[in-house]
Amino acid sequence: MSYRIAVVGGGPAGLTFARVLHRHGHPVALLERDSARDARPPGGTLDLHQGLGQLALDKAGLLTEFQALSRPEGQAMRILDTDGTVLRDWRPRPDDRANPEIDRGQVRDLLLGPLDVQWGRAVTRVVPGAGDGVVVHLADGRQETFDLVVGADGAWSRVRPAVSSATPQYTGVTSVETSIDDVDTRHPDLARLVGDGSMAVYGVNRSLVAQRNSGGHVKVHAQFRAPLDWHAHLDLADAEAVRSSLLARYDGWADPVLDLLRRGGAFVHRPLHVLPVSHTWTHVPGVTLMGDAAHLMPPLGAGANLAMLEGAELAESVAAGPADLDEAVRAFEERMWARAARWARMTTAGLERLVSPDPAEALALFDQVQPS
Ligand SMILES: Cc1cc2nc3c(=O)[nH]c(=O)nc-3n(C[C@H](O)[C@H](O)[C@H](O)COP(=O)(O)OP(=O)(O)OC[C@H]3O[C@@H](n4cnc5c(N)ncnc54)[C@H](O)[C@@H]3O)c2cc1C
Repeated sequence: MSYRIAVVGGGPAGLTFARVLHRHGHPVALLERDSARDARPPGGTLDLHQGLGQLALDKAGLLTEFQALSRPEGQAMRILDTDGTVLRDWRPRPDDRANPEIDRGQVRDLLLGPLDVQWGRAVTRVVPGAGDGVVVHLADGRQETFDLVVGADGAWSRVRPAVSSATPQYTGVTSVETSIDDVDTRHPDLARLVGDGSMAVYGVNRSLVAQRNSGGHVKVHAQFRAPLDWHAHLDLADAEAVRSSLLARYDGWADPVLDLLRRGGAFVHRPLHVLPVSHTWTHVPGVTLMGDAAHLMPPLGAGANLAMLEGAELAESVAAGPADLDEAVRAFEERMWARAARWARMTTAGLERLVSPDPAEALALFDQVQPS
């Protein structure tokens, strides 16, 4: 029997779900709010882990393409003291493929491939148990009915209220992002500072992390503890005002490190929110969640990996043609909840240590997780 299935959201979770279903010849309606593939910048770099994101790409038949595009050397990680002293300079072995980096836009394009995305279709709400199936309400006023609706619509999911009343809470840590283009040719000093992968500096309740993307593009993240309204007297669209405010916040740090802020372009504000660590819900027939919609956690290298693996796993069980679709979804949820809770605990504890009153905590965490 062929079920009518919709996935809401074309991020890592929704695209992987749709692509694996497509590989198995199963139709799916992919409803995406963005008006087009390039409606907004795709974001920075992702490290995809063996056994998580890479396993998902394998299930989608895309592992070889991933290996050709990804940057194993991007796993390199350097930690500096606030005075610019190099404290750690870790580089991967040449054959290390545990967590290579890849641009988010490249992953998106790999997964999109032959998929027929319904762009510009924002979902406003989902109503289960209404007659013939689950009714999806769209911003254009239309309604469509499905046997299964998968909410892969991220942190501020419009599908989630159909199964759970949980809403993301602010962690107390905010992130302000800027980027630098053509770093190798225009800013060779910063290129050397950042190296092949990431560079991080940890101070009291603040950090500065720079990550190399492909094509000489570097993203810089200033993360610090602050009230959600820290920018109440600041126009976030005014790059120079944000730059001055950040430079004041990081006052006393070494000049080469602060140059990452001085030479960046526009700034994007991303306060870090999370869902409760063990977010579960009473199963609702015909609706489920995956990815950030189900388990938003601090951005410490797990969210996209989990989102993709969940997408691949649910697609495989749906494609297997279960006699009882609902049973398959229940089994998926149990597995997702247990795995996501483990990662949510780790990343929540990780954020506490990385943006901490005691910067030695960040170094200790690095030494704990990074193979020497
Ligand atoms: C700075 C930063 C760095 C990160 N680095 C990493 C990393 O290295 N590795 C890693 O694993 N994770 C990383 N993460 C986390 C990762 O980005 C997320 O966990 C991941 O994107 C979640 O994927 P998703 O598909 O669940 O949701 P999203 O990526 O949020 O995608 C949701 C999609 O749904 C669409 N949508 C939203 N609302 C609607 C609606 N109402 N109707 C229709 N469509 C809708 C959106 O337009 C979007 O396309 C990082 C996060 C941040 C902020």
